Amino acid sequence: MANKQFDVLVIGGGPGGYVAAIRAAQLGLSTACIERDSYADLKGEVRLGGTCLNVGCIPSKALLQSSELYDQAGHSFVMHGIGLDSLKIDIGTMIRRKDNIVTQLTAGIRGLFKKNKVTLLPGHGRFVGRDDDRWQVEVVGKDGGEIVEAKNVVVATGSRPRHLDGIPVDNKIVCDNVGALSLDAVPKRLGVIGAGVIGLELGSVWKRLGADVTVLEALPDFLAAADAAVAKEAWKTFTQKQGLKIQLDARIGKVTQGKKGRHTQVTVEYECGDASHVLECDRLIVSVGRIANTDGLGAENVDLALDERGRVTVDAHCQTNQPGIWAVGDVVRGAMLAHKGMEEGVMVAERIAGQAGHVNYEAIPWVIYTHPEIAWVGKTEAQLRAAGIDFRVGQIPFAANGRALGQGDTTGFVRMYADTATDRVLGVHVIGNNASELIAEAVVAMEFGAASEDIARICHAHPTLSEVMHEAALAVDKRPLHF
Ligand code: FAD
Ligand code: NAD
Repeated sequence: MANKQFDVLVIGGGPGGYVAAIRAAQLGLSTACIERDSYADLKGEVRLGGTCLNVGCIPSKALLQSSELYDQAGHSFVMHGIGLDSLKIDIGTMIRRKDNIVTQLTAGIRGLFKKNKVTLLPGHGRFVGRDDDRWQVEVVGKDGGEIVEAKNVVVATGSRPRHLDGIPVDNKIVCDNVGALSLDAVPKRLGVIGAGVIGLELGSVWKRLGADVTVLEALPDFLAAADAAVAKEAWKTFTQKQGLKIQLDARIGKVTQGKKGRHTQVTVEYECGDASHVLECDRLIVSVGRIANTDGLGAENVDLALDERGRVTVDAHCQTNQPGIWAVGDVVRGAMLAHKGMEEGVMVAERIAGQAGHVNYEAIPWVIYTHPEIAWVGKTEAQLRAAGIDFRVGQIPFAANGRALGQGDTTGFVRMYADTATDRVLGVHVIGNNASELIAEAVVAMEFGAASEDIARICHAHPTLSEVMHEAALAVDKRPLHF
C-alpha cells in the first residue's frame, strides 16, 4: 500500500504545531499533525494543545485565579466592609475546575482540526528519510507504525522540564510543573528550586493557599530578564508584603527524602556564600528551565542540524538547514512562550504557501502572572544602556489612578522608554493589577513604530487602568496631567 502523503506534516500538537496546522489547512494545503501525548486524558486518547493547554499556561492561570480569589477573600474583602465568618478552600474542587477547563480547551482544538480538515495522526513522529522531494516520517501509535510523507515538515515538538542530577522527580513529593499543578492538598512547607516564571507563579498559588514557601535561586539577581526597576518593586512586594521567602545565590547540594512521623519530608542542603543551610519541606517544586524535545526525532536520519542545546537550528523565518523542514516554538531559539510559538506557526504555514509571513521578534510581550502581574515588551533600561541608545523615561504609579484606588489595588507602575532623538517607543514595563492586558496597547504601539507622543495623544477611557499607560507616555515628555 502506498504511504499517506500530505502537503504539510506537523510533528507536535502544541501551540506552535496546532496553529501551524490550522493556518496551513486554511491556505488550502492538505495537512496532518502528529501528536503522541495523552497527558492525563481519562480515555487515554491523544490530547492536542501541548504543554500550554495541558500542563502549562492554561492550568496554571486557572489555579492562579482560584488562589487569588481565596487570598482576596482572606485579606482584601475586609477593606470593602465585607466580612466572612469562616473561609475555606476545597482543593479537590479547585483542581477539578482546572482539569475541566483543560479538557474543554483541548477538545476545542480537536474541533478546530475537524473544522479546518487537519488530519490528526496519534503517535510518536520520527524522521526516517527522504523519497524524491518528500520527507518520510514514521508515526508509531498504539496500533503500530506507518510511514507518512510530505514535502514540508514542521517540527513543533516543544520542550520538557529540566531536572537536576540527584533530584528525582516523582510528581508527588518532588514535582516539576506537572505535579505542581495537581497537588492534592496545600503543603505546610513548600520548597521551590528556581525563582523563574514557573517558580514564582506556582509558588504564588500555594503561598496564597497557606503554604510556607521558600524559593532557592542560583543567580545573585532576582528576575534578571525583567527591567531592574520592575524587578526591585516585585522583590519588595513578594518578599516584604506577601512573605514569600526567596534565597538568591543558592547552590543546591544534596536533596534527600525521609519520614517525619507519618509524613514524607524533603531535606534540601544548599550553600550561600560560605554558609551552609538546610531547607526542610513537605513538597518540592523543581522549576529550573526547560529542554527542547529533539531526542527520538530522528534528526540524524535526515541530517537536521541541532544547536549545542539540542534545539533545531533555524533562521529568522524558522527554516532549518534542510529544504522543506521548518521548526517552531520551544524547540527552537528564543523565548519559550506560547504566543511566540503560535506566531512562528502562522509564519511558517504562510511561507510554505508562498506568502511572506514574518514574526517581529522585537515586539513579543512577556507576562508573569503573579500578583501584581508583571508584563513587558521591548528593551529594558540595562539593554538600552548596553546598546548606547539615548532614551527618555516616563514612569507613573498606579497609586495616582482613580480606578486602581477604587479597586483597592495600587501596587506598581508603568515605565516607558522612548528614543531621545525620534521619540519612538523602545520598551514598556508594567508591574501592577492587569498588567497582562495593559501591555497589549504597548505591543500595538511598538508594532506600529509609534512615538510616545502618539500614545500621549490617544484618548483613554476614564476611569481605567489604561490611563496609567497614557500618563507614562505623557511623563516621557515631562508633562503628566495627574501626577
Ligand atoms: P509544546 O506545547 O511543548 O507542544 C509540543 C507537543 O509535541 C507536545 O504535546 C508533545 O507531546 C509533542 N511531541 C513532542 N515530540 C513529539 C514527537 N516526536 N512526535 C509526536 N509528538 C511529539 N507560555 C506563555 O506564553 N504564557 C504562559 O502563561 C505560560 N505559562 C506556562 C506555565 C507552565 C507551568 C509551563 C510549563 C509553561 C508555560 N508557558 C507559558 C510556556 C508554553 O507552555 C510553551 O512555550 C508552549 O507550550 C510551547 O509550545 P510548543 O508548541 O512549542 O510546544
Ligand atoms: P525560567 O528560565 O523562567 O527560570 C528558571 C530559574 O531557575 C532561573 O531563574 C534560573 O537561574 C534558576 N536555576 C537554574 N538552575 C538552578 C539551580 N540549579 N538551582 C537554583 N536555581 C536554578 O524557567 P522555568 O521557570 O522553569 O520556566 C520555563 C519556561 O516556561 C520559561 O522560560 C518560560 O518561557 C515558560 N513559562 C512562561 C510563563 C509565562 O509566560 N507566564 C509561565 C511559566 C513558564
